[in-house]
Amino acid sequence: MKARPPSEEAVKKLIEAGRIASRVREAVKKYVREGMPIIDVCEFVESSIRERGGEPAFPCNVSINEVAAHSTSPPGDVRTIPEGSVVKVDIGVHVDGYVVDTAVTTCFNADWEPLVLAAEEALKEAVKLLRPGVSSSELGFRIQRAIESKGLKPVSNLTGHQVGRYLIHAGKALPNVAHSFGFKIELGEVYAVEPFVTTADAVGKVKTGREVTIFRFQRRKPLKGVDERELLDYIERRFRTLPFAERWLLNAMPKGRYEEAFRKLLSSKCLFSYPIFVEASGKRVAQAEHTVLIVENGCLILTE
Ligand code: MN
Ligand code: MN
Repeated sequence: MKARPPSEEAVKKLIEAGRIASRVREAVKKYVREGMPIIDVCEFVESSIRERGGEPAFPCNVSINEVAAHSTSPPGDVRTIPEGSVVKVDIGVHVDGYVVDTAVTTCFNADWEPLVLAAEEALKEAVKLLRPGVSSSELGFRIQRAIESKGLKPVSNLTGHQVGRYLIHAGKALPNVAHSFGFKIELGEVYAVEPFVTTADAVGKVKTGREVTIFRFQRRKPLKGVDERELLDYIERRFRTLPFAERWLLNAMPKGRYEEAFRKLLSSKCLFSYPIFVEASGKRVAQAEHTVLIVENGCLILTE
């Protein structure tokens, strides 16, 4: 089934979400410093989004060095931004469920700056190419070439993706490398485009890590405990199908009851867990990301 192009109302909300996301991204780029508690970065991003009239579409991701994605602060996180690190801050904003997704990499060691520049340039190149009728495989090829021409490597198993209402990953994926069986980009589609770059000596793939700090509602199920039922209701009502952090549940119920209820929701598979993604050979990773709306003669960068 083909998705209908977004209505005028939906486009307005996407543009508003994009405006909020790009401002918050530029603000956090200046805010993040070595030695700073990671939880401060997450809370800065999430409260800035709310102050500007949006809602976080997912917990602020702060993924460091070889961690490519899906890391946020758990409650009471004491970790800090390491010296000399490569820090990816990934930001999601929604307005009435209309989602944009954008990321920036900050680098505290000049040695890794080329990774950041290559990710940004590959993103620029991709955005220039995006228009109705372009094939995803041509796009992947151009991203790959932009990165490899700098003597670096794309992370081949992380992709861009379509976004939908209350959905971060909807429909089609946009590989960052050339691929067969591609598809054509169509008018009215909304995509998050996100090249990930690592060093030439890296494996160039991510694997899942042990840490899990991001979750989302997955399914309803008959549950025995009152607390589990209450917590699942709260999650579904508040976040629907969007990812959340445990930090966002702390006011749902008293701590003593919460911990057991949350554990049971996880073991009953009512919740989905996102493990972190780590570069398989432990090499550093940089990322750049924009969300774009495909229009007649190109694309509108919602998060510019
Ligand atoms: Mn993102
Ligand atoms: Mn994304």
